[in-house]
Amino acid sequence: MTTGKEALFPNYGRFPIRLVKGKGSRVWDEAGKEYLDFMSGIAVANLGHAPEPVLEALKKQLDELWHVSNLFEIPGQEKLAGILARLSCADLAFFCNSGAEANEAAIKLARRYHRKVLGNDRYEIITFNKSFHGRTLATLTATGQDKVKEGFDPLPTGFVHVDYNDVDALKAAVNDKTAAIMLEFVQGEGGVNGATAPFVEAVKSLCAEHGLLLIADEIQTGIGRTGTFFSYEQFGARPDIITLAKGLASGFPMGAMLGKAFLRDGLSAGSHGSTFGGTPIACAAAIATLETMEKEGIPTRAKRLGEQGVARLREKLSGYPGLVEVRGLGLLIGIELKEPVADIVKRAQEAGLLVITAGPNVLRLLPALTIPEEDWNRGLDALAALITSDAKNGIYA
Ligand SMILES: *Cc1c(COP(=O)(O)O)cnc(C)c1O
Repeated sequence: MTTGKEALFPNYGRFPIRLVKGKGSRVWDEAGKEYLDFMSGIAVANLGHAPEPVLEALKKQLDELWHVSNLFEIPGQEKLAGILARLSCADLAFFCNSGAEANEAAIKLARRYHRKVLGNDRYEIITFNKSFHGRTLATLTATGQDKVKEGFDPLPTGFVHVDYNDVDALKAAVNDKTAAIMLEFVQGEGGVNGATAPFVEAVKSLCAEHGLLLIADEIQTGIGRTGTFFSYEQFGARPDIITLAKGLASGFPMGAMLGKAFLRDGLSAGSHGSTFGGTPIACAAAIATLETMEKEGIPTRAKRLGEQGVARLREKLSGYPGLVEVRGLGLLIGIELKEPVADIVKRAQEAGLLVITAGPNVLRLLPALTIPEEDWNRGLDALAALITSDAKNGIYA
């Protein structure tokens, strides 16, 4: 019999830190050490840890009803769907429990809409190298990174990968089997890479010309993270399908797939479902999250703090020979260095700052969108000092 750590599958490379409490932008470990949180559980705690309005909504819902089967009408789902329809360019919602499930639903809807509603046999989905779309068999196949696929073959067919921001490669990939193009407007896991304007134009015109569905994976970029409720708003796009999860319910597990009204019959009764999708508790957390974001103008705040942060980092790191680039949108920021950044992550943790990577050479910052300005600046300065101290040790000298 195994116990403790040994009783867990070793599928995660975990940091040796045991966090037990969180409030706002601070978290504490078992020994009581305090950390400033620049990762928010990977873009989940967008309102910070245990935000008061969401906590209140959860407590209230816990006293009333936890779970009800989707065989019944669920008022919370209807209210939440209405809010999402108002905030987005979509009209309909399906609720699930994670990002992978939201993308899985999007892939199924794209295929089924072409097959059952339009009556054609288009099924191929074009996705992009360095993308990340999840860990189910279909979504890891959609993901444009080999490392998530190793050992899992045979993989489902029907996915085509091309280089991100490569207009010619994208045009060449479209054929009479293509059903949809699926993309992140800013690739999160893949290195904080934004789509270029000509690329987005090409995506839009190919979709219009060939009747392809545009699927925006907003699982990391959505819910205010990039400075608008959804990142596509800043790229002049109006996707047909939008997938959400991470920040949607402030840390309560929830995913959603949104779609335009014309897709309605693509998911007729009985065609898709989830036992836990859209429980009253998850809906209460998501409603309180979105209402708070709107009421307090959180996405706009994220835009301002993000722009300030990028400027501050560029200034502090200017002249540092190990720097490639500081880039980002809102509070999704990448610092690309010429060398692996794992050691900086470790030294930041020792100094009481939690950051993560996006690929080997990119530090990724995802603070709560509500982070106090003073904490944001203090953390950025500490991180810049940690990065440049490498130079003093002679690594780039
Ligand atoms: C995290 C993420 C996913 C997968 O979400 P899970 O909840 O881990 O299944 C999919 N797409 C993007 C862009 C993500 O960042």
